[in-house]
Amino acid sequence: MINETHARELTSWVPGAESAGGEFPIQNLPLGAFIPKTGGPARLGVAIGDRILDLRAASEDGLLTGASEVAASACKDSTLNGLMALGPLHWHSLRLELSRLLRTGSDRRANTEPHLRRHAEVDMVVPASIGDYTDFYTSIHHATNAGRIFRPENPLYPNFEHLPVGYHGRASSIVVSGHPCRRPWGQLRRGGEPAPVFAPTEKLDFELELAAFVGPGNRLGEPIPIGASDQHVFGMCLLNDWSARDIQAWEYQPLGPFLGKSFLTSISPWVVTMEALAPFRMPMVAGPARVQIPGYLADAELARRSALDIEVEVALQTAGMRREGVRPLVLARAGFAQQYWSIFQMLTHHASNGCNLRPGDLLGTGTISGREPGEEGCLLEKTRNGAEPIELPTGEVRRFLEDGDEVIMHARCARDGFVTIGFGECRGRIEPPIACGNS
Ligand code: CA
Repeated sequence: MINETHARELTSWVPGAESAGGEFPIQNLPLGAFIPKTGGPARLGVAIGDRILDLRAASEDGLLTGASEVAASACKDSTLNGLMALGPLHWHSLRLELSRLLRTGSDRRANTEPHLRRHAEVDMVVPASIGDYTDFYTSIHHATNAGRIFRPENPLYPNFEHLPVGYHGRASSIVVSGHPCRRPWGQLRRGGEPAPVFAPTEKLDFELELAAFVGPGNRLGEPIPIGASDQHVFGMCLLNDWSARDIQAWEYQPLGPFLGKSFLTSISPWVVTMEALAPFRMPMVAGPARVQIPGYLADAELARRSALDIEVEVALQTAGMRREGVRPLVLARAGFAQQYWSIFQMLTHHASNGCNLRPGDLLGTGTISGREPGEEGCLLEKTRNGAEPIELPTGEVRRFLEDGDEVIMHARCARDGFVTIGFGECRGRIEPPIACGNS
């Protein structure tokens, strides 16, 4: 629902909140966790302009009086799990209180100001204790483009239009933006060779994705009806599902991705809440060959606001580009609104067999690609599995990622009548492999 926290007239007294191109105006208020560079345990914070409001300090100082007691108390935790478990009414009361605290004219400015920190004073950390991470495969353009490389006649698997395909990812190797990506070793079979070798991946790739954090979740054995699914999504962040294509290609049959994906997953540190995203919800876009949506995933009312108008972007900066002062080159931009399955359908499908989703679980959307050239959300798609290398401004070429390359992802929401909000960034630089035993 749109409410006073979304009003375009709202401004904040915090520096940088209205700066052009700024991602964190008062209409956004994304939540995250940080460790002060001076040390100590992780603390929760909200990004506003050029600053972070320390939620623990604000709560302990009695500044969150308008928030429910439980929401204010959850702000003292070191992860967002407690807040995620509370549900939309508590999330809303906290957002409203933060909006009133930080808006221009607030009579509590003097008490709040001491609890602001600069981004440079802290290290962001993974904002929730992520018990389980599942990655879906829900962009029909990605599925078609990637499928066409391997099965030109029949790019889409027959299940794609019937259910949101997914695999269980690895939660322990999820890191926040800035953490390097160590090139993994693995078994891979080079083209034309009969036997696999154990070697550093030669086809390291990124996948441009968003991800949803689960809110209250469900008890084991009790599914989440599609009509209630949006009560269970807390917020969204960027996600880079780093992938070693050669390891993946050799290992994935018959049980799906394993070591070709589990070595690392990067997310952006700020969770943009579903309430902040409310102005950017829109009807689902009909797919080119949409079949009848199964009843347990169909809800006509929810479908009118299930798509999210989020523009995502991925850029590359090689070590050579950094040396020559060349700015990161945008490789792709795509719209998440084109996704075939919504995050609500992913959640309901996930719980439809009774599998329990817990607060802080993370659901990746799968690579986000569009139909057109320049909208490919991974290198596999963009270079056609290496057959069509990218030329960079330095004269370098890339089929896949090389050591020293940095991948930088952004996302933003813009709509007439509303203030543009951003997701911050998700970046990671490739580091050389570390040898693994007798290779
Ligand atoms: Ca993926």
